Amino acid sequence: MNAPLAHQPPCGGIDLHQEQGQRAVFCGLTGIVWLHRKIQDAFFLVVGSRTCAHLIQSAAGVMIFAEPRFATAIIDERDLAGIADANEELDRVVTRLIERRPDIKLLFLVGSCPSEVIKLDLSRAAQRLSSRLNPVRVLNYSGSGIETTFTQGEDACLAALVPDLPRDADAAASLLVVGALADVVEDQFLRMFSAMGIADVRFLPARRANAMPAIGRNTRYLLAQPFLTDTARALEERGARRLPAPFPLGAEGTTGWLRAAAEAFGVSDATFEAATAPGRARAETALAPQREKLGGKRVFFFPDSQLEVPLARFLARELGAELVEVGTPYLHRGHLAAEIELLPAGTRVTEGQSLDDQMDRCRAARPDLTVCGLGLANPLEAEGLSTKWSIELLFTPVQGYEQAGDLAELFVRPLRRRALLEV
Ligand code: SF4
Repeated sequence: MNAPLAHQPPCGGIDLHQEQGQRAVFCGLTGIVWLHRKIQDAFFLVVGSRTCAHLIQSAAGVMIFAEPRFATAIIDERDLAGIADANEELDRVVTRLIERRPDIKLLFLVGSCPSEVIKLDLSRAAQRLSSRLNPVRVLNYSGSGIETTFTQGEDACLAALVPDLPRDADAAASLLVVGALADVVEDQFLRMFSAMGIADVRFLPARRANAMPAIGRNTRYLLAQPFLTDTARALEERGARRLPAPFPLGAEGTTGWLRAAAEAFGVSDATFEAATAPGRARAETALAPQREKLGGKRVFFFPDSQLEVPLARFLARELGAELVEVGTPYLHRGHLAAEIELLPAGTRVTEGQSLDDQMDRCRAARPDLTVCGLGLANPLEAEGLSTKWSIELLFTPVQGYEQAGDLAELFVRPLRRRALLEV
């Protein structure tokens, strides 16, 4: 049964509502699709069912690799019935995998609904296998859940890495960028930080298992993604401190994000300006033609990726779109404070989901563009609404000045397609 929509006390200048009920989301296994490309010598072994295997295969598209970096160890009926010892089976599968693949330096055992149902303790399995397979490191996290969002898989994965990160006893402050970014985006940010004079910049996750960043009390970190609640908590427990900032989407978000680092590291205004002005100008040039296409367009966000609030801010402030409703699965008041501040006053933000009610509101509003999960896109398209898959925003490099135009283009494309269909 759906709980009624609850109106929340004011949160910045937004009109915040909360709702609960039926949800339409992917589970955290989906994160493997972009994480396996990022950590190049890691392997993700889902301990799950055929459904889990199908999910990551279809989320990944038809990808044929000579040496794939993810797989599913299928829990079959014998495991479920307790006839076979699932731990023994798992050890056998993992040992064979590592023997055949000496390139694997870091193995993630990824829990699923079935592994949780049979109470397979993957944390003990990871410890056991780590000591047996040394120097291969074995970690575990859970990607399961119908109560989670698909981006929480990345959060759980990065949080699992934190206890293992080397301790940084260095007295000098270092900057840590947290969240999987495309390599090209990382390289651009590295150049900008270097132009600002910030030399010690690290990334979590690193591209290789043996290059994971050291952290300590002098680590100052910037979140590159808004869905890293558990990772942030784990970093704080290790003494790192978050730099409050908007997220680096669009020219404005990127400037705010870089400025937070500049202020923390004592970069002068003149140096900051010299380092960022060219990129900002290029982003603004790229956005100008997109503003003509998106200006005044009415946009509706279903809760899916947790990127909704920064994207809504970008669409409204830099492209002149009108926000009908911004649904988000979870609104982290702290991590999103700077974003909430920038949203147009009175923006309706809905935290949580009651699918039928939200579908009704979307149909009644007939927005020009609906940003939603894969499962909702087809029915809404069939009703004549233009949709954008929110998952695409995780697979595409969208952060930073150089990608601002591409990010806008992702929202323009469905409008163009609809216009062509109507012609
Ligand atoms: Fe597997 Fe559960 Fe995800 Fe379904 S929701 S794919 S069973 S982990």
